[in-house]
Amino acid sequence: MIPLSNDPALFADEALSGFVSAYPDFVVGVPGGVVRARQPRTGKAAVVVGGGSGHYPAFCGLVGDGLADGAVVGNVFTSPSTADVVSVCRAADRGAGVVLLTGNYAGDVMNFTLAVEYLSTTGIDARYIAITDDIASAPPGRERDRRGIAGDLVVFKIAGAAAEEGYDLTDVERVVLKANDRTRTLGVAFDGCTLPGSDHALFSVPPGRVGIGVGIHGEPGVGEESRMPAQELGELLLDRVLADRPIARGARVAVVLNGLGRTKYEELFVLWATVSAHLRNRGVVVVQPDVGELVTSLDMAGCSLTITELDDELESLWVAPAYTPAYRKGRWGPQTGRLDDGSRAVAVDRTDLVDHEARPGSAEAARLARVAAGAMDAALAALVAHEDLLGAIDAVAGDGDHGRGMLRGARAAHRSAQAAAETGVGLGEVLSGAGRAWARAAGGTSGVLWGAMLEGAGSCLPDTPETWDRWAERPVSVLSDAVRSAAHAAQSVGGASVGDKTLLDALLPFADGLARADRLDARQAWRDAAVGAMAAAIDTARLVPKKGRARPLGDRSVGHPDPGAVSLAIIVAALAGDMDVEVEDFVRKVAS
Ligand code: ADP
Ligand code: MG
Repeated sequence: MIPLSNDPALFADEALSGFVSAYPDFVVGVPGGVVRARQPRTGKAAVVVGGGSGHYPAFCGLVGDGLADGAVVGNVFTSPSTADVVSVCRAADRGAGVVLLTGNYAGDVMNFTLAVEYLSTTGIDARYIAITDDIASAPPGRERDRRGIAGDLVVFKIAGAAAEEGYDLTDVERVVLKANDRTRTLGVAFDGCTLPGSDHALFSVPPGRVGIGVGIHGEPGVGEESRMPAQELGELLLDRVLADRPIARGARVAVVLNGLGRTKYEELFVLWATVSAHLRNRGVVVVQPDVGELVTSLDMAGCSLTITELDDELESLWVAPAYTPAYRKGRWGPQTGRLDDGSRAVAVDRTDLVDHEARPGSAEAARLARVAAGAMDAALAALVAHEDLLGAIDAVAGDGDHGRGMLRGARAAHRSAQAAAETGVGLGEVLSGAGRAWARAAGGTSGVLWGAMLEGAGSCLPDTPETWDRWAERPVSVLSDAVRSAAHAAQSVGGASVGDKTLLDALLPFADGLARADRLDARQAWRDAAVGAMAAAIDTARLVPKKGRARPLGDRSVGHPDPGAVSLAIIVAALAGDMDVEVEDFVRKVAS
């Protein structure tokens, strides 16, 4: 339980403001996150880390001398938006470019990759690497598919030290890849974690059991064992981590024994006694270990063990001094550089990335925009009604935030669409603007995808006489092209294909349905296609997820439909109007 919060929806924002006000000598807030208060020297490569909230000290607590230059801070367990990433990178850049680091999660990968592309168009050289240390999340041979968990800390530390040392972007990237390659982690949990405002944990571990291979977003373990004494658990962790990447006698290693949020430091030290003794017996030399909370998962009870095999270069970077709110190491020399004068906090404006003046459209485009904005009322209401269900199916193999995330994005899109439609902006512009608003407000995987989909649909509806002539003659073919364009956008951002158990498995059948109904009346065609989307969403239950957060727990997801496909079907059905009976029936099937 998280007993201390105000409005749960504002938890991450309020925590961030509190953090910034507690550490004014270390950090200043900028839109999307924080950067160092003391500006590093010009020409230093910047290291920007990030991801969702709920992991403190990761990620904002790691901003400071010798470590990160900035942290992008998303909502609880939710990737920050592309706009947030761009904003923090611009504030952190000292003219030598930025290395961006996150754990390997679909939402982070999409948003950080889009940010890198955008930054390069503004002349900022940016490199993005996703950390993949969690051995439970994919078997050997598929290391690139693994999640990033507490090993993030080791890689961030090495990257930060390298940049401080004067490495250029390419060299920082090189040591990051080397460190990531040599880093392995395994996590275990005695109990799950609870999102602020929620009254139940995202998963629970049966009494007397311990979950093995847990993630840091409330993803349950991939396996389970009987509870065991600390000594045995220490051996289990060590054996499995070393089995994945053997370490020879005489090797030197960095080790992190990380608490996940509700495990006492004393418990960790008890465990450490076993781990360190066994490493010593194997002839492995431990260099400056960290035992404590470094990458947490809200109030999860549990811990993880990370081992990184060092070479001379990595060792000197690992032991280099660092001075941040939550991580301090070695002796940091006299402070040079000037404290931020506050100019950066205002110099970066997130809106300049995405918002431009929308101009009024033609009469027909403006009329259709009002129709679309009106239809969005029903879609929003349907998401409100089914928020808990979406969260519950996302908790089966994901992190349980799908309902909340969709609602956050849809609310922003709805607001943007209504405001724009009222001022006479045309349909295409209204949809594109709504997409930008969605992505900015929601972050996460579904946020970036829905943002891209709405923008994709909008860009397919230019306000030209040809568009509206076609609309008058064959509205369904125009709609069908727009939906197809949305699907292309989702595929190009997310790289998923049919059968990967994502929202595409409802969206593509929906697009096909529209294409087939080309000759029908538009409302009827949309309704028929929505019925098809609902059936397709139910059908995803038999699939094994190949993308996104649910992938590592793929088998658990079989028998349950994909949350993104379900929310998509709910939205398209609600947009059609008059489908309450069908939607209720659909939701009953999903819930059963
Ligand atoms: P997160 O995974 O960041 O917690 P959500 O829970 O809001 O985000 O959304 C999860 C949904 O996103 C999944 O159910 C799936 O439909 C969709 N999804 C995940 N990865 C992809 C991808 N690569 N392409 C398309 N859809 C995806
Ligand atoms: Mg989720």
